[in-house]
Amino acid sequence: MIMSDVPASGATANASATTTDVQGDTFQHDVVRNLICRQARYPDIATTHDWYMALAYSVRDRMLARWAASTKTYAAKDVKVACYLSAEFLIGPQLGNNLLNLDMTSEAREAMRALGQSLDDLLAIEEEPGLGNGGLGRLAACYLDSLATLEIPAIGYGIRYEFGIFDQEIRDGWQAEITDKWLQKGNPWEIVRPDVSHYVSFGGNTQSETDAQGRLRVRWIPARQVKGVACDMPMQGYRVNTCNVLRLWKSEAVESFDFQDFNAGEYYEAVEEKVVSETLSKVLYPNDEPEAGKRLRLAQQYFFVSCSLQDMLRLMDAKGTPLDKFPDLFAAQLNDTHPSIAVAELMRLLIDDRLLSWDAAWDITQRTLAYTNHTLLPEALEKWGLPLFQSLLPRPLEIIYEINRRFLQDVRRQFPDDEARVKRMSLIDETGERKVRMAHLATVGSHSVNGVAALHSELLKQTVLHDFAEMFPERFFNVTNGVTPRRFLMLSNPELARLLDQTIGNGWRRDLAQLDALAAHADDTALHDAWRTIRRGNKTALAARIQNATGIDVDPAALFDIQVKRIHEYKRQHLNALYIISLYRRLLRDPNLDTAPRCFIFGGKAAPGYAMAKLIIRLINGIAEVVNNDTKIGNRMKVVFYPDFNVKNGHWIYPAADLSEQISTAGKEASGTGNMKFMINGALTIGTLDGANVEIREEAGAENFFLFGLTAQQVEERKQAGYRPAEYAQGNDDLRDALDQIAQGRFSRGDKQMFQSLLDNLLKHDPFLVLADFADYVACQDRVSEAWRDTRLWTRMSIMNTARSGKFSSDRAIAEYGEHIWKTRATRIDLARS
Ligand SMILES: *Cc1c(COP(=O)(O)O)cnc(C)c1O
Repeated sequence: MIMSDVPASGATANASATTTDVQGDTFQHDVVRNLICRQARYPDIATTHDWYMALAYSVRDRMLARWAASTKTYAAKDVKVACYLSAEFLIGPQLGNNLLNLDMTSEAREAMRALGQSLDDLLAIEEEPGLGNGGLGRLAACYLDSLATLEIPAIGYGIRYEFGIFDQEIRDGWQAEITDKWLQKGNPWEIVRPDVSHYVSFGGNTQSETDAQGRLRVRWIPARQVKGVACDMPMQGYRVNTCNVLRLWKSEAVESFDFQDFNAGEYYEAVEEKVVSETLSKVLYPNDEPEAGKRLRLAQQYFFVSCSLQDMLRLMDAKGTPLDKFPDLFAAQLNDTHPSIAVAELMRLLIDDRLLSWDAAWDITQRTLAYTNHTLLPEALEKWGLPLFQSLLPRPLEIIYEINRRFLQDVRRQFPDDEARVKRMSLIDETGERKVRMAHLATVGSHSVNGVAALHSELLKQTVLHDFAEMFPERFFNVTNGVTPRRFLMLSNPELARLLDQTIGNGWRRDLAQLDALAAHADDTALHDAWRTIRRGNKTALAARIQNATGIDVDPAALFDIQVKRIHEYKRQHLNALYIISLYRRLLRDPNLDTAPRCFIFGGKAAPGYAMAKLIIRLINGIAEVVNNDTKIGNRMKVVFYPDFNVKNGHWIYPAADLSEQISTAGKEASGTGNMKFMINGALTIGTLDGANVEIREEAGAENFFLFGLTAQQVEERKQAGYRPAEYAQGNDDLRDALDQIAQGRFSRGDKQMFQSLLDNLLKHDPFLVLADFADYVACQDRVSEAWRDTRLWTRMSIMNTARSGKFSSDRAIAEYGEHIWKTRATRIDLARS
């Protein structure tokens, strides 16, 4: 099927290498040839970056041989392809992971050593593609890894942003945003395909006409068109031949559209048009951004969805599959509402271009699409104002109106005399300025709707999609998120992986549930010693990076207490900060207090327009400045804000954590995936009953988890009863003192104004119940300190967390999507016969 996509000969210079694959000296030869022929360099003058590129191309060549075999097999066989539509793919650095999945890390290390290069140096200089904000984009990347590893035919579809998520620097304690120029030195993993491109329309108007057969047809006469060009990246499965593709669309001007018959004035207009077209895929939008750049964002969403659906139709045609079999060839998963315009766009392509009837098109659309919800936060549920929608996408909007008309008819039929329900369920929000509700569009147009953790899926049915769950109960599922054990255990914690092999055999590498066998060794003293030695090594490595990035000295013997994730009020980094202040004050009051040394480590980016989140970063840095320089405290506590948290830094952070902070207000974190990465690596969790924490605690056992805080239900009750946060401050000396210290400028070099808005917000509104949970959080942290004193107990709990983490593999999650939602099957790829 994807036959036409086999790379042109230039890119597959090494396709013949399949037979001589992974022989040290052959590989070394390939690297030198790529250095000369692709980089136009030779060994004597090559920089480290040149060697990195040469190595990356040589690894890519190995993958392309598998890609060709996969493509050929999918074309020949009756397979179903899972298409994962996502505005974000936070894939992380590729070299190490590709070497791991091809099982050629040691060969590459040897070959590079023979060439006088250190593989670790080459891994270290790789720039990561920051094509995502955080958890949602990282989930998409884990799912591509698992799809290929489980040998499921799949395509990831998204946007090739020229500038990804900004790089973060800390200046004077504040976040500074630096443009992410990830493509500046080239991306060796990418294959641009000018031959695979599609046109996308914007603006203009529509006209109705009757065709020769007497059918009513609508013509969209757009004001402009943009071309999407495919940029592919190979996604290699772990120790299998399957190599799938991540296809990202880059926007380009449609030259023929503007450059015909222009005079001088029109020429410059056409050039301007070209500039506008190319800005479409220019930059990734940070989330949590209030009302910024809305128009371009909707245009981006439509652009990549339209290109992707047209591409699927093209592949169907190339395979010779009839149109009515489209849902048997493709399953398309919408990663949140960002691609939900797919409902209208697939209808448009089927009706306007392929001349299907409404009913036939609707049947295909619903059977193809499935929707994953990622949030219950009202401000994060996407809605687009009608005037914007109308001016940008007039034809898709007409289709949405017609979907809505028919849908509301069904609602009225099923629930007579309930106009309040009709209003609530409508695809158009008529309260205030009229808007399209994208979550409703996705739910109505899909055969499956899922949340991302058991609690989240339940709350989804009780709250934001309650009416829909009543109308279509059979449509609702849960698939708890997962993370890839390749990147987050084997690649980033190789010593622990080796110890696991020695202790329980290596079956866990293909089936993470087998980690359970480790539980039988939880009291084995020799294992305890080896476990602690490895953890100490990981902490020492992180301490060196902290020293390098921040100048702060931390003691690897201290308890590493880590909270890394986007900075957001619902995630409550400020709850952690308040606790740190209270602990600091306790140590000052009682210099002889016998507490275990702790190192508090934070990391995460704040959306550039989210003032409160940026202020929380400033507060953490203010506390760090005071605590780390207080000679009365010494090594008993340290506070670190590790700058620029991304996937690459995560490789060093997750394996070095003793304690994982998962302290969001219950009911607000849909799942979390950072919590899973920590657990797999043996960290204990301090957390609320939120998102996947609930299941982490169930799996680990309550005795191996530090639970605190209000439940989701209690949070709602507390709000209903009229929550007054100031009363909590009045009733708790430590809390009042911590807030006073901030107000007095203690952490802002005497500036009493700096944190005023943060304090006001906490004392007057506190929408995320930070103050209500403070006392219980402190009590729970005391239990953590007690447990840490008992090294045997702590090590046992750490081992039990890893042992019980098998459920949180993305392989399990993808198997569930495949079985219940996509109906996909594994397809073995045979290299020899290709
Ligand atoms: C895993 C990950 C996240 C998600 O973390 P949560 O704790 O689930 O919010 C965000 N950013 C990066 C870089 C990650 O690797």
